[in-house]
Amino acid sequence: MKIHEYQGKELLKKFGVTVPRGIPCFSVDEAVKAAETLGGKVWVVKAQIHAGGRGKGGGVKVAKSMDEVKTYAGQILGMQLKTHQTGPAGQKVNRLLVEEGADIKKEYYVAALTDRATQKVAMMASSEGGMDIEEVAHKTPEKIIKVFVDPAVGLTDAQANELANGIGVPAGSLAQAVDTLKKLYTCYMETDASLAEINPLILEGDGGIRALDAKFNFDSNALYRHPEIVAYRDLDEEDADEVEASKFDLAYISLDGNIGCLVNGAGLAMATMDTIKLFGAEPANFLDVGGGATTEKVTEAFKIMLKNPKVKGSLVNIFGGIMKCDTIANGVVTAARETHLAVPLVVRMKGTNEDLGKKILAESGLPIITADSMAEAATKIVAAVK
Ligand code: GDP
Ligand code: MN
Repeated sequence: MKIHEYQGKELLKKFGVTVPRGIPCFSVDEAVKAAETLGGKVWVVKAQIHAGGRGKGGGVKVAKSMDEVKTYAGQILGMQLKTHQTGPAGQKVNRLLVEEGADIKKEYYVAALTDRATQKVAMMASSEGGMDIEEVAHKTPEKIIKVFVDPAVGLTDAQANELANGIGVPAGSLAQAVDTLKKLYTCYMETDASLAEINPLILEGDGGIRALDAKFNFDSNALYRHPEIVAYRDLDEEDADEVEASKFDLAYISLDGNIGCLVNGAGLAMATMDTIKLFGAEPANFLDVGGGATTEKVTEAFKIMLKNPKVKGSLVNIFGGIMKCDTIANGVVTAARETHLAVPLVVRMKGTNEDLGKKILAESGLPIITADSMAEAATKIVAAVK
């Protein structure tokens, strides 16, 4: 799960990292009031969307007067912000963060992330802050410094010093930089984040160190123990179909192809997608209805799959183990009727109550194409959409 920058900064602040004073806003009036409340002469108006690269896309503006705060807030709120992380359609801006301006002397990059290869926490730092870190990694990999932290030990002084020295933090600010890295590490661990990134972490004119941006990803499997983080969830930033699916406890991911898939079991769902590709087409989604799905759940799954306008045909592939084939058949028939199914549908089912399931499909009067093997099912649906 991702959160907004201003929420990330709230978390960082809770763990002792210095962040600029700022106020989240939902309207131009609120933005002007926020700037008045903050005081000072310079403010930064920042689009809040779950994607990076906002600066380049025109979503971060430095305002030097109340008029400019008003103008920028008006420009950014409601805009369709396009960055390298949003995709070509962009993401609509519904929230702003208005902050006090910072006196930036130098921008650094620091992050903590899960490193599966070493089974440790990678702490990364770079002197090239404020930029797209993937580009730095590609063009000047020597400018990224990494240490691997054993979670049983934690980030040591030596490691934190290696990072801070390695990116060239001046002597007078070293202690605060080391302290910030340690707090970032603690924040990452205690919130069950999989990524906690500050880009840029800045050196201020007076030698202070503060976080000017905050990006977090959290391990969804650990959210049950963090209601305070779940409360940050912003459904407007997530794929609408995926949100709908999650309400029914369905594992659904939108993809780019045109063949909808409804499968039970994540492994079989992956194999089904591979098979569709092998036979020359592309899946429109990943959808695992799980082992113990009811007819109602299958019906909802089917509806969500078909709601995608890209879907030109669909493939239901079921192995009846715990799941019974007649349950799936009932769900498919109900949903096909309710949605006035208008695209070809191939169903392949094997296992528990297979015969009963096939009978329900046959007697439904719906134009359902059946198949016995996965190869046959894939061949038939690929032919049907061509
Ligand atoms: P991102 O582009 O989505 O990563 O958004 P950031 O929060 O990182 O902002 C992009 C850039 O805007 C930063 O790298 C800074 O150079 C600049 N910026 C952000 N806040 C301030 C500020 O308070 N003052 C000034 N002068 N620039 C800022
Ligand atoms: Mn940034």
